[in-house]
Amino acid sequence: MRTPIIAGNWKMNKTKEEAVSFLQEVKGKVPSGEKVEAVVCSPDLFLDALVQEAEGTEVKISAQNMHFEEKGAFTGETSPKALKDLGVEYVIIGHSERRDMFGETDASVNQKVHAAIDHGLTPIVCVGETLEERESNKTSDVVTRQVKEGLKDLTKEQAALVVVAYEPVWAIGTGKTPTAEEANETCGVIREALATAFSRETAEAVRIQYGGSVKPANIKEMMSQSDIDGALVGGASLEAESFLQLVEGGN
Ligand code: 13P
Repeated sequence: MRTPIIAGNWKMNKTKEEAVSFLQEVKGKVPSGEKVEAVVCSPDLFLDALVQEAEGTEVKISAQNMHFEEKGAFTGETSPKALKDLGVEYVIIGHSERRDMFGETDASVNQKVHAAIDHGLTPIVCVGETLEERESNKTSDVVTRQVKEGLKDLTKEQAALVVVAYEPVWAIGTGKTPTAEEANETCGVIREALATAFSRETAEAVRIQYGGSVKPANIKEMMSQSDIDGALVGGASLEAESFLQLVEGGN
């Protein structure tokens, strides 16, 4: 059985004070990790404070990006080693905003996925089609390519540790979503891509999240689908109360 995973991606929002008070509000209220994993994906600046605040609670802390090198002359970047050292457990890799605005490619995603696994961080690998790709019936091809290239050269055991987030680009921050059945169908395509690239066993172990305009009102329907194991949520994860409702909905 795959443990559901609800992750809030704060993107470039919150001050340190807001971040810490959010965590103070939610910790103690999230259910045991055996039922659902609750993850907060914060800007790097607050990771240290959040890891300390989350200690001994069920909330897990994630970064939103990282470099693939362990150290070196990469001004402004954060290394996987430094994240691990802080006590961070997850890292989002290849979010569509990074692919679109910061030059992330399937090849750099792959380098980062390897680096995350090598350093004991769990990568949340984002895939998803643009509106243009969807309208030209390329959704399956796009997500299959992103999974195959992004996870290239991992062992079956390593691939089983990855979380994949299916985020249709046109559904992010727009209030638009595919139907739960459509989202499930594409998550099924992703699972088949994993089975082809690795093994059936690996594909069955990987948790696949849906992301894009998830809110308390639609989380349960998404989570009722056979191939949807969680959600990666932007806007609706910013308020503690809404985040808790999402975690509850993932239960
Ligand atoms: P929204 O939930 O705001 O649509 O954002 C989704 C997302 O990009 C999460 O990574």
